[in-house]
Amino acid sequence: MDNKPILVTRSSMPPLGEYMDEISDLWESHWLTNRGVKHGELESALAGYFGCDNVSLFTNGHAALECVIESMGLEGEVVTTPFTFASTTHALVRKGLVPVFADIDPNDYTLDPASIEAAITDRTCAIVPVHVYGSLCDVEAIQEIADRHGLKVIYDAAHAFGVTRDGISAACFGDASMFSFHATKVFNTIEGGAVAFRDRSLGDAMNAWKNFGISSDGRVLYSGGNGKMNEFCAAMGLCNLRHVDGEIEKRSRVAARYDELLAPLSSLRRLRPQAGVEPNYAYYPIVVGDDFPLSRDELSSSLKNEGICARKYFYPLTSDFECYRGRFGSPEDTPIAEDISRRVLTLPIYADLRLEDVDRICGIILTAARERG
Ligand SMILES: *Cc1c(COP(=O)(O)O)cnc(C)c1O
Repeated sequence: MDNKPILVTRSSMPPLGEYMDEISDLWESHWLTNRGVKHGELESALAGYFGCDNVSLFTNGHAALECVIESMGLEGEVVTTPFTFASTTHALVRKGLVPVFADIDPNDYTLDPASIEAAITDRTCAIVPVHVYGSLCDVEAIQEIADRHGLKVIYDAAHAFGVTRDGISAACFGDASMFSFHATKVFNTIEGGAVAFRDRSLGDAMNAWKNFGISSDGRVLYSGGNGKMNEFCAAMGLCNLRHVDGEIEKRSRVAARYDELLAPLSSLRRLRPQAGVEPNYAYYPIVVGDDFPLSRDELSSSLKNEGICARKYFYPLTSDFECYRGRFGSPEDTPIAEDISRRVLTLPIYADLRLEDVDRICGIILTAARERG
């Protein structure tokens, strides 16, 4: 067995010939960006894949999130989670909103509806939950709270590409869902992102916002930025979309192998299946319990010494970032999120991760536990 370093993820790529075919028309048209043919094809293909009416593409997921916030004209406070990637909180703060952090559910790490409810004030304009690791939020409870208080719901669905519940795509919940198509995500366009949304009129506003605020009739309506996806990225998306279900299937085999080998370690908590949810196996998080012989950081070091890169993801909480410390409450306000962030480690997972490598990773974990235990 070779002991090559194993990274936490590896980008999915289509066969080179398929991509070359897909981009060859661009040498005819010389149309490289600004709502080109590939861009239009990818928007339609994604709407078909999600089973929703409206999809708008972006240069990246973060730009998509900032743009949908701007296009909705939100002001005031937003109830959100600190157990997320920097992007979610940054988008709110950069758009002049005040994040109010609610706590998470200890089983699926998504926002706890009771905690959302408790965080709502008369200044709240929206809820921005995150489908963490591809686990779906309690979308019904969240919608019920939003309807009762007249709030918008924007999901950060960066982790949830391909996830469905009772056959309905993660893209179909709330007023809008942001997806990231970054190279490290289950579906990638190299860099890229999208918003799937309910109200068609939001599409005109987003199209203007991502093109310097210029509307389709040439008037400049907003002080917009530049968030347009180019044709090479859209072409990568068209190719990767043909393979994504197969990639998810391969990821499921990797996850099943981890499940099987780690099952004897009851002190390592694994993701639990959610009722009716078809997952995408985007991440393989383990939460290290008090009764495990090593701490999370010690386990991470043991893996690193053997060339295995696991990731402390999400750690620290965004409320504990240096730029936010003391500004929007403290990590102690969300004790469950704080506890999970100190215990969680995401293990390597990607479609082509070999099962022998999973065996080796689990062997390191089991050995470390036995030597200490
Ligand atoms: C990746 C990610 C983003 C940002 O997406 P980019 O496409 O990299 O801009 C936002 N939120 C979460 C939870 C993510 O994982």
